[in-house]
Amino acid sequence: MGLSKTIWSNPAEIIRNKQPDHPVLVFAPSILQATARRFLKGFPGLVTYAVKSNPDEMVIENLVAAGIKGFDVASPAEIDMIRRIAPSAALHYHNPVRSRSEIAHAVRAEVKTWSVDSVSELEKLIEMVPAEGCEISVRFKLPVAGAAYNFGAKFGATAELAAVLLSRAAAAGFIPSLTFHPGTQCTDPMAWDAYIRTAAEICTNAGVKARRLNVGGGFPNHRIEGPAPELEAIFALIGRVTEEAFGADAPALVCEPGRGLVGDAFSHITRVKAFRDRTHIFLNDGVYGGLAELPLVGNIDRIAVYSPEGEKRIRAAEPRIVFGPTCDSVDRLPGELPLPADLEEGDFIVFKGMGAYSSATNTRFNGFGQMEIVTALTLAD
Ligand SMILES: *Cc1c(COP(=O)(O)O)cnc(C)c1O
Repeated sequence: MGLSKTIWSNPAEIIRNKQPDHPVLVFAPSILQATARRFLKGFPGLVTYAVKSNPDEMVIENLVAAGIKGFDVASPAEIDMIRRIAPSAALHYHNPVRSRSEIAHAVRAEVKTWSVDSVSELEKLIEMVPAEGCEISVRFKLPVAGAAYNFGAKFGATAELAAVLLSRAAAAGFIPSLTFHPGTQCTDPMAWDAYIRTAAEICTNAGVKARRLNVGGGFPNHRIEGPAPELEAIFALIGRVTEEAFGADAPALVCEPGRGLVGDAFSHITRVKAFRDRTHIFLNDGVYGGLAELPLVGNIDRIAVYSPEGEKRIRAAEPRIVFGPTCDSVDRLPGELPLPADLEEGDFIVFKGMGAYSSATNTRFNGFGQMEIVTALTLAD
């Protein structure tokens, strides 16, 4: 992705030296590896990485270096990339809907773990995937609780249907497992509590002992001013509730974080193109670029503002309307963003916690979206 060989100290140094006119994502591999080790140490089971949140090869390589051995993949392209970079890694094909040619591709790539949330797609898998040594995880959903974004709107069987699918998968000779996704940026740990207890009920109703329970992604990253999310508290709750709900039949646990792993390893440098009549801020990036997620998940207020000389603007913040660079009127950040009163045209706004769903969903709409990724030792101000 055009990574330069220079390793900068921090985003302010990049601003001082380059004054970049295009958006720049700053990657700190040390932070990514530290977060990966935090998951590996704290989560009571297997940690896999949801590739879609940031498929940059540097990210995958650093996760492998930190000890991540499994990946949640959703497409033949993601499968092929992981097979190339980490040939021995476990691949969990957890997009519950696939075409027949995609299934055939994954069988050839020796994918052993699949998720499913419907009768039609389960029958396709039973027909096309050799059951021997293969796991089918039934994805179920509950009404939304605690997350920034409703994942159940697209995927997940009801608890009733999940019991039917679980026994059908077991009867067809597959290793039966369960999976769910509580919704991305899930800051309420009780969402996991409710899902895990429902998983135990599904097993009881199906009369099937699940081999594994995948508790999804959804782990939050630090997007909002204030204390960072307490991942360890979520890990502890997941372990405790699994024991309580399943007792001696407890399945092995798996998680598949995207945002929680990669989010805090990147900061995003944007530039103020114009301060129209001192009312509206126009940035060089917006909702068709690296800031695509903000209207869906909420504004990021962990920001730092710098003059072109790299001096931090520290005057009290005032709420401002912020637009992106395209001519489309939806290209606007939600609500208003608190920005320092001494903000000027040509200044830089650094958004923190921008590693997930930023470069991955960047478009070139309207001729914008030229984005550079550079490396830094830290993301400190
Ligand atoms: C997107 C996705 C994830 C990652 O979600 P985050 O909220 O980024 O942690 C995990 N599992 C599945 C099946 C997904 O589709």
